[in-house]
This record gives sequence, C-alpha cells and structure tokens, in this order.
Amino acid sequence: MQAIVNHLIQLQELLMIKDEQKVLGGTEHLQRMDASILTMKNELRGDVRLTFDRLQKKDFLVIVPVSDGICAACGLRLPISLVQQVRMCKEIQACPSCARMLFAPEVRPKRIPGRVRRTDPPKVGISRFTSHSLMIPKLEAVDKEGAIKELAFKMETEGFVDKAGKLVEEALRREAIISTAVSHGVAFPHVRGIEGGGLTLALGMSQKGIQFDGDNNLSKLIFFMVIPIAASAFYLKLLSGLTEALMKPEARKALLAEKDDPEKLWKALVKVTRSTIK
Ligand SMILES: [Zn+2]
Repeated sequence: MQAIVNHLIQLQELLMIKDEQKVLGGTEHLQRMDASILTMKNELRGDVRLTFDRLQKKDFLVIVPVSDGICAACGLRLPISLVQQVRMCKEIQACPSCARMLFAPEVRPKRIPGRVRRTDPPKVGISRFTSHSLMIPKLEAVDKEGAIKELAFKMETEGFVDKAGKLVEEALRREAIISTAVSHGVAFPHVRGIEGGGLTLALGMSQKGIQFDGDNNLSKLIFFMVIPIAASAFYLKLLSGLTEALMKPEARKALLAEKDDPEKLWKALVKVTRSTIK
C-alpha cells in the first residue's frame, strides 16, 4: 500500500507542477506532463483511480499529510486510532471531514510558527510571508544548489524552519522534474508540504546570475518558498502576483539596485509587489 500512496503523492505533485507552469506561462512542457499524468493515472488500481478522480473534481488536493494528528488540508484533529491506521498503511484512509486521502509523512522539515507580538502593525501584501531577515542582497553561491542552500539555511538561522539540509534535498528533487526558472532572470525554487506554519519566502540576488535551467538563461532574482499543503492554492496566487510584478523591467531594476542592505531590499520588494499581491 505504501507504493500506491507514493504513486498518488507523485501524481498529485505532477498536477500541481502543471498548474504552476500554467501560471508561469511555460507551455513547452505541458504536453509532456499531460502524458506522464495520464500514464500514472492508468497505473492506479481501479477503485483508487475512481476516488482520485472524484476528489480531484472538487479541489487539486487529493492526498494530504497528517501533521501532528491533524489533517493538513482541513485542519480536523483526527482520532488517534485513525492516525495509527494511516501510519500502518494497510488500506488508504480518508479524512472524516474533507474526505481526502491521508498519508503519514516521513520526518520532514517543519515551519516554526513565529510569535506574533500584539504591538506589531497588521501586515499586508507580501510582508505577510517574508521579512527583512530573509533577504540576501548578495548571494555568495555561484550555482543552483549553492543558492538554494544559502536561502534554506538563512530560513533555518532566522528561526523560520528546521532541517534546512532536508529542504535543500527536496527543492533540488523538485528542480529535477522541471526547472523553476522563468523569463527575465527570475527563479522560484520551492518545497511543498512544509507544515507547522504559513507560507514563507526568502529572496536572494546574484548580480552575475546563476544557471537554473539547462538553457543559458541566468537567474538573478531567486525566490525560495516553503509551502504548507493547505496554502497550495494561495501559493499559485502569490506566484502569479510575483510574476506579474516582475514583468516590469523597472521593478527588477529596483530590486537589483539594492545590493547591500537587506532592509532596503525588503522595502523595495514590498513596494514593487504592492499592486499585484494583496
Ligand atoms: Zn481533512
């Protein structure tokens, strides 16, 4: 049964990557992805396939992790006996509230929920997901792996996530499926299914540019994100807001000009995304 669960997780990941590609306007891989999706669906056991298709009609979250005894999609606290059955994995279990299929994740990195101070002003726009402490105006890295490492360890050092090393591994696995580099020297490496808090974003810049895909496009603005499963739909909105903002050459220029001070880079990021990320 673990093999079926792994198959379902991969299938769902492919469907999500397809949605990402649509948002980012990358059409060249879509056909290839559709073919892989169909093959993977056809390999499913009949009853599992029916359940998958039925759930997929409602929402693109079909199989979700149990995180600290809670369904990561709808937030229901699951009965302990059910959590145990999910762990044993003899049959696929469903959440009694949202009906999605459940799986027990291996030990994964977690988002560490930050303490919110009452005196903080209410946050709006992109400042809900990031902070000046997560800006790296000058990445030391010269390659993709190095850049992802620097950003993931920044998140760990600043107390936003744990197990940065594992995050790096997963982000690179995701890059191997389809590069997250888009046009205009921007890349969006990320890891999905990081539970424990909200979506989090770190930004690193490289004036020289770093090669993120097989082509010779160099990425200068690298946005690294960790995404809880329940925020998957929202992540697509954020991605589209960022892409829209960064289409404008003056927005990219404004960010790239802040090569020394994380605080100033953060302010510039808030400013250029003000109208596209609400
Ligand atoms: Zn649920």
